[in-house]
Amino acid sequence: MIADSTRSARRRMVRRQLLARGVDDRRVLAAMATIPRHLFVPPSLAGAAYDDAPLPVGEAQTISQPFMVALMTVAVQPRRTHSVLEIGTGSGYQTAILAHLVRRVYTIERLPALAESARGRLASLGYDNVEYHVGDGSLGWPETAPFDGILVTAAAPLIPGPLIDQLAPGGRIAVPVGDRALQELIVGVSGPSGLATYRAGACRFVPLIGAHAFSY
Ligand code: SAM
Repeated sequence: MIADSTRSARRRMVRRQLLARGVDDRRVLAAMATIPRHLFVPPSLAGAAYDDAPLPVGEAQTISQPFMVALMTVAVQPRRTHSVLEIGTGSGYQTAILAHLVRRVYTIERLPALAESARGRLASLGYDNVEYHVGDGSLGWPETAPFDGILVTAAAPLIPGPLIDQLAPGGRIAVPVGDRALQELIVGVSGPSGLATYRAGACRFVPLIGAHAFSY
């Protein structure tokens, strides 16, 4: 009964929030129709888990709006063979979507309590292709680079240089770039003449904290 009602809430989310806004990557849509987002929010907010909004997950952090998760995931064009780096594990929801779609996910979170609960949540859901690290994700994870995709799920003033350096040839990066109040999702593709970027829409994320973050 409960499983049925969350399944229909997920399908409704996919139809009304993703398909209706032009998300058309079948694998991403299927992942979002499968992964139980209500298990990634505090129990008191489970009833709002499929709403068209970000939600608080503790430690003054948020789980991103479903559409933004879809947009960022599509931006890195995930393939089964890919190795992807995520900065900002948070609840682990975006991590789970990626783990569903690619070979291996490396995820970095600066807050140990969030990293620990995300690790437990993903393990209990059976994801065994995720590596976790607690630290400053703006420095990347050089030991496990290069990455086919990099997602930064916190706002930065610029695309952090170390992350560009850790992209594989042809690799794609998605970063909310702007000021503390408002950003634009910038997508970059690593090519022979450097990183070619394009804008993928306005967004609002919590700030990245670390070496390549806002100085104000
Ligand atoms: N991807 C998450 C999810 O699906 O729940 C949402 C992430 S939340 C919008 C942003 C996260 O980035 C927070 O958990 C925050 O602690 C983390 N963060 C901020 N600065 C960071 C840094 N320099 N390195 C790693 N994580 C960072």
